[in-house]
Amino acid sequence: MLPFSRVAIIGLGLLGSSIARAVRQAMPTVRMTGHDASAEVREVARRIELVDDVADTPGAAVIDADLVILCVPVGAMEAVATVIADDLPAEAIVSDVGSCKASVARALSAVLPPARVVPAHPVAGTEKSGPESGFATLFRGRWCIVTPLAESDASAVERVSAFWRRLGADVEQMTPDHHDLVLAVTSHLPHLIAYTIVGTADDLETVTQSEVIKYSAGGFRDFTRIAASDPTMWRDVFLSNKDAVLEMLQRFSEDLSQLQRAIRWGDGDALFDRFAKTRAIRRSIVDQGQDDAAADFGRRHD
Ligand code: NAP
Repeated sequence: MLPFSRVAIIGLGLLGSSIARAVRQAMPTVRMTGHDASAEVREVARRIELVDDVADTPGAAVIDADLVILCVPVGAMEAVATVIADDLPAEAIVSDVGSCKASVARALSAVLPPARVVPAHPVAGTEKSGPESGFATLFRGRWCIVTPLAESDASAVERVSAFWRRLGADVEQMTPDHHDLVLAVTSHLPHLIAYTIVGTADDLETVTQSEVIKYSAGGFRDFTRIAASDPTMWRDVFLSNKDAVLEMLQRFSEDLSQLQRAIRWGDGDALFDRFAKTRAIRRSIVDQGQDDAAADFGRRHD
């Protein structure tokens, strides 16, 4: 039996459009409605027939849904939840895909019945945005972290988990706070570092921009992919997960100072030990199927 039969997606960008495509493939009988704040995005969604019905207002999109998934930037979650509250059917479950969970859990439960709220975060994405960048296999073999509130109904949690399993994801449960700590180090800090490095290279005066671009295969290029991620989304992530990010940043600065010291004092053993440890971490990520082992990050050279 399908976990849901009428799904409403609010926000039809990368995540929302990927969910729509994945639902079409995995659960073709599910009726889907969608809404996006941008008239241009709604127009594209209609043209590519992303969902069965594109509504001009969020309220019209959710009116007969049994699952509503909010796929908007984290900072817009509360506003959307407030707007749909009056049109939401009493039995509907509301979930989301936001990259931070404690702030979203608070925002949603402030305006919606907490028993029906089941926040979640599919740990899958790309640096692209918009309805045409989504694809049906985005969640396959990736983790979806479901972060129920203390008040979330157990059967609602199970149905949301079953929904994500149908889309090909492996589901794990955590509290919203624990999720935010884990993601601060695995996702938010790496993005902050990439934004910093790419910015630093841009500010250099003694090395020209054309040299930076020409010799980028030395490592810089891989940071530029992450640093090309959506500015609105990432602004909201850092503002919403402030405490956990600041904590991880503090630890990172201390570790960086240790490496700086090892370089200054010519302590090759310290550098070698650290690099050997990190190489083993890379190996376990590949072994667990979370990345490609192909040389040069799987880039094609033909
Ligand atoms: P996206 O491609 O930019 O799509 C977001 C869409 O939501 C945009 O079309 C945006 O329209 C629309 N929107 C903004 N405010 C809205 C509102 N109040 N009502 C209705 N629609 C609204 O972004 P995304 O990558 O799909 O990210 C969506 C969510 O997924 C975020 O919460 C993010 O943290 C989470 N997430 C992202 C990734 C990733 O790698 N990208 C991975 C996992 C989770 P405008 O463009 O006009 O603002």
